[in-house]
Amino acid sequence: MARSLDPKCRQCRREGEKLFLKGEKCFTDKCAIERRSYAPGQHGQKSLRRSDYGKQLREKQKIRRTYGVLERQFRKVYAEAVRRRGPTGENLLQLLESRLDSVAYRMGFGASRSEARQIVRHNGIKVNGRRVNIPSFLLKPGDMIEVAEGAQQHLRLKGAAEAAESRGFPEWIEADAKALKGKFKALPQRSELPSTINESLVVELYSR
Ligand code: SF4
Repeated sequence: MARSLDPKCRQCRREGEKLFLKGEKCFTDKCAIERRSYAPGQHGQKSLRRSDYGKQLREKQKIRRTYGVLERQFRKVYAEAVRRRGPTGENLLQLLESRLDSVAYRMGFGASRSEARQIVRHNGIKVNGRRVNIPSFLLKPGDMIEVAEGAQQHLRLKGAAEAAESRGFPEWIEADAKALKGKFKALPQRSELPSTINESLVVELYSR
């Protein structure tokens, strides 16, 4: 499967904020953003004045990188967001949050979205009792997710689930870190998602 090969911390530094791509490290003072919160590269510390287009492009890249979705897939998700009823930007975020890799990550079945995706791809996750190994699989409210038998013994996975539980699960997720199972309760409301995301810039970008 195609995936971004840019070093993860570099992606955060490019976007100027924490995208939480590296699991537990992101919550410690070893986080690269805590240490060097300027863009990577020779000119990273110069202050930049961005055009409207530049801002829209950066926001799109930030969202794409946060969810670990490549450009082509992102376009497809956006097309589906346009097709659905309601505000396109909110639909876009709800679709990204409904992906199986994203929900598995929110439940702590992987310390980062990329680790959760790896577990999904290796047949480690069941949806409503059936193994699903497609990270982009879209969940519906009410779907039950669990770690499959073979993967349950992975200590790293247990540690990630316990860490997620101690940080608290988002409103739209119900999960049991010990049993390694949970429920995708509902599509997230816009107010439940980070205010640092400005999805309307993506809509403006694609409406050009
Ligand atoms: Fe981003 Fe995590 Fe690296 Fe910090 S540690 S820069 S949040 S990937």
